[in-house]
Amino acid sequence: MWGELESIGRHAGSGGYRRFAWTGADTDCRAWFRAQAEARGLTLELDRNGNQWAWLGDPAAGDAVVTGSHLDSVPDGGAFDGPLGVVSSFAALDELRGRNARFTKPLAIVNFGDEEGARFGLACVGSRLTAGELTVEQAHRLTDADGITLPQAMEAAGHDPDAIGADPERLGRIGAFVELHVEQGRALDLTGDRVGVASAIWPHGRWRFDFRGEANHAGTTRLMDRRDPMLSYAETVLAARREAQLAGAVATFGKISVEPNGVNAIPSLVRGWLDSRAADQATLDTVVHGIEKAAREYADAHGIHLDVVRESFTPVVEFEHALRDEIARLLGKEDGGKSAHLNVPVLGTGAGHDAGILSGSIPTAMLFVRNPTGVSHSPAEYAAEDDCVAGVTALADVLEGLACK
Ligand SMILES: [Zn+2]
Repeated sequence: MWGELESIGRHAGSGGYRRFAWTGADTDCRAWFRAQAEARGLTLELDRNGNQWAWLGDPAAGDAVVTGSHLDSVPDGGAFDGPLGVVSSFAALDELRGRNARFTKPLAIVNFGDEEGARFGLACVGSRLTAGELTVEQAHRLTDADGITLPQAMEAAGHDPDAIGADPERLGRIGAFVELHVEQGRALDLTGDRVGVASAIWPHGRWRFDFRGEANHAGTTRLMDRRDPMLSYAETVLAARREAQLAGAVATFGKISVEPNGVNAIPSLVRGWLDSRAADQATLDTVVHGIEKAAREYADAHGIHLDVVRESFTPVVEFEHALRDEIARLLGKEDGGKSAHLNVPVLGTGAGHDAGILSGSIPTAMLFVRNPTGVSHSPAEYAAEDDCVAGVTALADVLEGLACK
């Protein structure tokens, strides 16, 4: 399976993947998914929002156990983020058939569309629409960098954009959704474990900092006469690092725009975007408040006007405790799976996922597979074959426990 996916949407120059929603690479990934489903005698369904479902058993029976992930990528993404979950789902089903497992509930493997939001700027469009967290009107307004709207892109790929919308009936048939994903950090590498269980997705947000000073000549304006917003911005970047470190959180200024953006001009405006995430709301508030307070002091010191705008915010997602504990029990092999005490690490993550979106509607859980460098959203993203196989075994154990009891 890995070999078949390897070349789809891979950019020759960067070696990274460019599998964007409703493009040719996306269509090829979907064809691969369909072929995998057909090869296993599963019933393929394309839902109203363009998510693919491969069913074993009758979906209408209800209380279905669903696993899967996504096949799209960020620009120049790695091979594992998304596809590892889908490939592992098919491999886990093969494993269960090898064990002669008897399914007492319907099982489905899902490929959620447009998870990364690389093309239209909003992540998890497929699951958000299904969960009713994105309205049809909002979705119809999404536009890519070339001015192509989401409806136009869907239509070009043969999908009816007027069919999209919330799908409570579909979600009502699902008893549990388990998403396996490559870890996007080094927690498992540090504990020496191959597989972990997710506890929560950290709350996260984006803030825009506008530092306004005075444009002037870089050669003739005396230092003491300048109102240079770049200085306050630079000090704020350092403050963000300091505040995040103090709180055990993360804070990043990864995007900046400068006006007039001339090499021989003191800037009039420096606009920087802060992305910050922490394990809980109070910590995140403390970090962002600390950065903003420092930024205001630096701005005042340089005669700079500062505006801070929160552009987006996603509260903490706690995965359902009962399902998480059940999974930990199923994977807790050393005591024969009798107690929920964990020899499986339970970890939080700073990255968003379809499982996080769906957790508001149905019980969801996540398994993480060790990533030795923690690098993700990059061609260098990696997981060792042994660890991937351990992930498949863990997922098979979980699915057997949930769907075969
Ligand atoms: Zn992903």
